[in-house]
Amino acid sequence: MENSKDTHDTTKGEKPPESAGSSTPAPPNFIRAIIDEEMKTGRWGGRVMTRFPPEPNGYLHMGHAKSICLNFGLAADYGGLCNLRFDDTDPAKESVEFVESIKADVRWLGFDWDDRQYAASDYFEQIYGYAVQLIQEGKAYVDSLSAEEIRQYRGTLTEPGRESPYRNRSIEENRDLFARMRAGEFEDGTHVLRAKIDMASPNLLMRDPTLYRIKHVHHYRTGDKWCIYPMYDFTHCLSDSVEGITHSLCTLEFENNRELYDWVLDRLKVYHPQQIEFARLNLTYTVLSKRKLITLVDGGYVDGWDDPRMPTISGIRRRGYTPSAIRNFCDRIGVAKSNSTVDMALLEYCVREDLNKSAPRVMAVLHPLKVVITNYPEGQVEELEAENNPEDPAMGSRMLPFSRVLYVERGDFREDAPRKWFRLAPGREVRLKHAYYITCTEVIKDETTGEIVELRCTYDPQTRGGWSQDGRKVKGTLHWVSAAHAVEAEVRLYENLFTRENPNDVEEGKDFTGHINPDSLDVLTACRVEPGLAAAPPGSRYQFLRLGYFCVDTKYTTARKPVFNRTVTLKDTWAKIDKAQKQKKSSDRRR
Ligand code: ATP
Ligand code: MG
Repeated sequence: MENSKDTHDTTKGEKPPESAGSSTPAPPNFIRAIIDEEMKTGRWGGRVMTRFPPEPNGYLHMGHAKSICLNFGLAADYGGLCNLRFDDTDPAKESVEFVESIKADVRWLGFDWDDRQYAASDYFEQIYGYAVQLIQEGKAYVDSLSAEEIRQYRGTLTEPGRESPYRNRSIEENRDLFARMRAGEFEDGTHVLRAKIDMASPNLLMRDPTLYRIKHVHHYRTGDKWCIYPMYDFTHCLSDSVEGITHSLCTLEFENNRELYDWVLDRLKVYHPQQIEFARLNLTYTVLSKRKLITLVDGGYVDGWDDPRMPTISGIRRRGYTPSAIRNFCDRIGVAKSNSTVDMALLEYCVREDLNKSAPRVMAVLHPLKVVITNYPEGQVEELEAENNPEDPAMGSRMLPFSRVLYVERGDFREDAPRKWFRLAPGREVRLKHAYYITCTEVIKDETTGEIVELRCTYDPQTRGGWSQDGRKVKGTLHWVSAAHAVEAEVRLYENLFTRENPNDVEEGKDFTGHINPDSLDVLTACRVEPGLAAAPPGSRYQFLRLGYFCVDTKYTTARKPVFNRTVTLKDTWAKIDKAQKQKKSSDRRR
């Protein structure tokens, strides 16, 4: 066996970070327990019908991925269906661009809604009809207080609200005013339609919630047909009802909204799905809120929604994450009733685990240092065979050119090397992966700066392929490229976008942007990659031996110069050794 001690070329033996369970099948959770029970009692006639209801006012993020996997996953597992429904009741911020990005992202994650793409705006006419019905039954009224007054009348958690002076308008008057609201007779903010429930309810959302407001705003689908738009709480339950949803899954913040959800459907005596709340996903070192992500995009803190540092689906896609890694991650984190924060390391573990199986191994030198093999004939080129993936022999092999002038990683050479340094140093012998053993004989420095500009080495022709015939062992194996054959590339290294585990944890008067990591992007422009990568298609993924997983950037790659994004690092065993040694030294000192 090759000694791979210093190649850190594997996720083998890496334990999943805490909280990672096994990946298949989907672990039980409280929602599955509810459905299992209902399957026995026949509550929904054996049906499971879910929906994923994004508002098209931004790009999807990892939190949405959790919701998508949950909704589509449950439907698939119980032989049901999941609809894609755009919750488009706030036209000022919504657009076709967002609709299209959301569809692309859900598809990329591997889910399919067939022909069941809906929008709340499909139901505007129906929802309007339900509002009229509530008016008829004396359960809704047109209020003419200003927004500010409505707020003041609402009361607080400790004080009941006050009834609006317009609360007791006649049904006739309400019908007339509501029709004229629709007809466009009134300006924004002059009237709203409210449910007549209870101004003293302990649940503030039940204190005569607004059902409709006037907004003279163009809607990306309905155009200028409407100038009144239904509120989320009125729209969502009715959309679920119209579509015959069985389980309306939403995040915990909507727990208080459930009472209103049920009130509307009960009053209207229509088909009544069950709302179930689950904990939203929070991830360390990032933010999962569209509003905050918009701030990052609009503030120019990142290079758009698909910046590879963004926790958006389009960002992680560009970064090189795979759909199966995301689905696996969502299975592993499970679904619970209480909020928690998941370690980013778990997501990265899932990505590594997936790419380890599928990504071809290649060689790339990020910080090139020239090596001249002094005893290798000038002008000679050899083709050496290199396996594409030791985890999967079926992936075959490729030929790599080897010649007298090579590049190795600058960090793989140390002039004053410690005893356990198994890489290049004066007089030390290492293996070049798939090639030969080489020994460093001379260090050439720039006369003025003193910088090391070249290493002179000799090679042992008896070690072709990286094996010695005399059984002599070397501990270090380095990656390399042939200088004359290598392709110049740009490589982008990413770190966490925030320096703080919880970026929302801010001091008085500051906001989360104060925790942005100024060093989250490192662009290396003079890297050298093996020749085959000149033709690597945008989006394709590789393991750069000893360095990590990388993918070809879809935005900046040109025919002349490939650009690679670092998807995720490998475990760096040297960093671990370094740390262990430091710890040992300090404990020795204490003794
Ligand atoms: P944000 O808080 O980022 O603005 P949102 O809830 O307003 O998100 P929607 O487009 O309304 O975004 O969400 C669509 C679906 O995704 C909803 O059912 C919502 O509950 C779910 N969702 C949003 N964020 C998360 C999250 N962090 N974890 C799990 N589900 C989420
Ligand atoms: Mg929302």
